[in-house]
Amino acid sequence: MFKKDFKYFENSDIVYLDNAATTQKPVDVVSSQIEYYESYCSNTHRSNFGDANKATQNFENARKTLKEFINASKNEEIIFTKGVTESINFIASAYAKDFKTVIISSLEHHSNIVPWHMQNRSLGNGLEVVKCDNNLDFDMHHFEELLKQNPKAFVSITHISNAFGKIHNIQEITQLAHKYNAVVMIDGAQSLAHTRVDMQELDVDFFAISAHKTFGPTGVGAIYIKEEYLKDVNAYQTGGATINEVDFNSSTLLDSPYKFEAGTQNIAGIIGFAKALEYINRVGYENIELIEKDVFNYLNEELSKLPNIQFYNDLENCVGSRSFNFKGLIHDDVGILVDKMKIALRVGHHCAQPIMKQLGIKGTIRVSISFYNDYSDVDKLIIALKKALKMLED
Ligand code: PMP
Repeated sequence: MFKKDFKYFENSDIVYLDNAATTQKPVDVVSSQIEYYESYCSNTHRSNFGDANKATQNFENARKTLKEFINASKNEEIIFTKGVTESINFIASAYAKDFKTVIISSLEHHSNIVPWHMQNRSLGNGLEVVKCDNNLDFDMHHFEELLKQNPKAFVSITHISNAFGKIHNIQEITQLAHKYNAVVMIDGAQSLAHTRVDMQELDVDFFAISAHKTFGPTGVGAIYIKEEYLKDVNAYQTGGATINEVDFNSSTLLDSPYKFEAGTQNIAGIIGFAKALEYINRVGYENIELIEKDVFNYLNEELSKLPNIQFYNDLENCVGSRSFNFKGLIHDDVGILVDKMKIALRVGHHCAQPIMKQLGIKGTIRVSISFYNDYSDVDKLIIALKKALKMLED
């Protein structure tokens, strides 16, 4: 029903089921970027002529749109970045590096693991990992133990696992962390495409956002920094646009958000991202959630009928991604065959090698849906999987 809003589905005959990797972009998102490049392309916050002012205004309106979308309290709390990877690296190096302990979960994406290793942290040595149970659920008791043993820790946890679709209860996690004086950053890469997030309700201290996983352009993201931390976070990169005054001896920086946004930003991308958020508002999270739940359940029912399928978690507290293998078959082989049948899904470790190792596997076949997917996409997937299974068995 919503595919008509996306040119991609007009131009492509692929069954797109790789939404956790990136989502498709609605017409408005693409056209707003073309409009910027073709009719008022100028830099922001610098020159003072008509088009430059328009670019600055649209750029700052995009900040306001994101602020309102996630219910942040001030525009200054929204800092644009290249995406979640940059947001996490920024906070890791400009704020969290001085914390004695960083606590992550078992389901983290490499973007929330590798930056901590780069600080010479390893398991038990400045880095702690909250266990998950057999259903990949976050172990709250273990988390509390870690918080007790490591006062004033920095907690960096994903909201929704890209690999298994598992949703962490970030409100509960944050409440508990704050009880032990920990500071909380959430990797929200997979959040906004599926569910509303409200910074006041969740009370998180940092929240990392990815535009390209939220129907917006690639190379754009943001980090929400709760107002009380703005002064404690150092500038991660500096240069043009971040400064108040410079001479050959020293420089003084502007306040947030400008002090954190060095160099010319992805202006078209940021304007396009705001259009993606406006699009979500028009569709409505109530609709997105209803459709996704229905299609996700259908996907699960149909997959469950396939012989020798192996899941790693049930559907409870899951959204978007369903990961599985077929006993005795290599996930890569299945991926190659369904690709030939025009099914776009991802096979592999999904940038989550540690949890794959814990499960004793190299990777999975991952189907990740969005609200524009429908039963017919699932039916085509199942036909392709059946054919692939037959070919691999023969
Ligand atoms: N965390 C998670 C859970 C993700 O799914 C991804 C993207 N696969 C990232 C972080 C990295 O996001 P970005 O592409 O915006 O850097």
